[in-house]
Amino acid sequence: MPLPDDTVDIVHWVDGAGLTGSPTGWAEVTNPATGQVTGRVALASEADATHVIASASRAAGAWGTTSLARRTQVLFSFRELLFSRKDELAAIITAEHGKVHSDAMGEISRGLEVVEFACGISHLLKGGHSEEASTGVDVHSKRVPLGVVGIISPFNFPAMVPMWFFPIAIAAGNAVVLKPSEKDPSAANWLAALWQEAGLPDGVFNVLHGDKTAVDALLTSPEVQAISFVGSTPIAEYVYETASRHGKRVQALGGAKNHMVVLPDADLDLAADSAVNAGYGSAGERCMAISVLVAVDPIGDELVARIADRTRTLLVGDGGREATGGEKEADMGPLVTKAHRDRVSSFIDSGEAAGAKVVVDGRDVTARGGEEGFWLGPTLFDDVTPDMDIYTEEIFGPVLSVVRVKTYEEAVALVNANQYGNGTAVFTNDGGAARRFEADVTVGMIGVNVPVPVPVAYYSFGGWKRSLFGDTHAHGTEGVHFFTRGKVVTTRWIDPANRPEGGLELGFPRND
Ligand code: NAD
Repeated sequence: MPLPDDTVDIVHWVDGAGLTGSPTGWAEVTNPATGQVTGRVALASEADATHVIASASRAAGAWGTTSLARRTQVLFSFRELLFSRKDELAAIITAEHGKVHSDAMGEISRGLEVVEFACGISHLLKGGHSEEASTGVDVHSKRVPLGVVGIISPFNFPAMVPMWFFPIAIAAGNAVVLKPSEKDPSAANWLAALWQEAGLPDGVFNVLHGDKTAVDALLTSPEVQAISFVGSTPIAEYVYETASRHGKRVQALGGAKNHMVVLPDADLDLAADSAVNAGYGSAGERCMAISVLVAVDPIGDELVARIADRTRTLLVGDGGREATGGEKEADMGPLVTKAHRDRVSSFIDSGEAAGAKVVVDGRDVTARGGEEGFWLGPTLFDDVTPDMDIYTEEIFGPVLSVVRVKTYEEAVALVNANQYGNGTAVFTNDGGAARRFEADVTVGMIGVNVPVPVPVAYYSFGGWKRSLFGDTHAHGTEGVHFFTRGKVVTTRWIDPANRPEGGLELGFPRND
């Protein structure tokens, strides 16, 4: 599958083929490293959404009753195809999102983990069985698919975030409608074509492109049983409330402001490397990025100096450009759009105006790439205080803020006062302190000397507080539960050798 060229139209994927439908408009898709428009994506009308949802609805019944053996074979084929062709997908991600190739490959690897987990789903779909629960009565339970499920994803992981959900949804016997971000929509179509190649029946995996119109159609359609959403907190809250009101099961993952707490006994080189990796990887456009570093006295000066030294070595550039002749590959790509770059840059202005100390200034970046690229270099602030908007807002860019505190208690109080509770990390060599931190923080995912503690696929991913609306996290056993519902069957077969007398009995069984 070729990369988008200048004129490519990105359209919906329904019943195993492309569909333009009757779009309400088209959104431009750009290569963030060059600033060039590389394609345009169809924005679905209500009629288009209805058409795509109906296709999923038609396919759901047969897929839900396809044998587990066959479903597992398709999952394995998808896994093999994706594994062998991940370079192609990584190139598509880099061309529309801007993250460097190695980072795009990492994103795909984390998605592959979920596919591999879903290959073993049969084990988790097993129910229980109780023989002779009452005299002559057996009981068994089972988990069955929901039908059609909607997945709405953000721009920052165009492959991995959809893969937190759809491998499990499909393995469990559901049909999927994926609504990707309109900023980098091509990965979804590439994945759809790959499912077809893997032998998935047409209509089981569909892609509906668009904006609020497409999202609202999914949230309100009576044919859609469940919604998995990932994006910013205001939209997550809207999605949760709207879809719940329409009787759907919802998991809506929102924004974050992740704190990394460095205790005085920590290994400062490890902490500095980790802060740089987690603060500036993917240009800070990760929901598990570290955006606040909390330095507990007296290590602040030393730690900031080590982070600053490392930050200044980072090369910002076009992640799709091959390094030649001993050149270093870019560490960090551009931001996703010009508007987002300008927004992040304005946060740097406001942090400076509010009195934070700009230790490394990303506004001065010299990037290796197109002049029109959406560049912003890694930025390090020191002496940030909790009243500044660079502290209170989710910036979602390469901006790391250092807050200095005197004690462990002050550090934990900061983490817990935050409206978000996605991820946090503690850096220390004291096992007792780490254990206490784990118990003290009101956050869903915690790292101990690990700055980006994204759980492996057989655990579940999800934050607390305003980072998650709904009560089910993504993937792992919680994911399997989300995409299935339980039935309990109570059975009595009359033993011909021992036929009970029967008769009318209006009372509740006495079990005696
Ligand atoms: P976004 O909220 O702007 O968009 C997410 C999705 O919602 C997109 O598909 C978009 O088309 C749709 N959407 C946007 N506005 C809408 C509206 N008014 N009504 C209905 N649908 C709408 O998010 P984004 O900018 O694409 O992604 C970045 C955000 O996602 C950050 O806040 C980040 O923290 C968050 N995120 C969270 C996690 C997590 O696991 N908690 C993971 C990745 C990203």
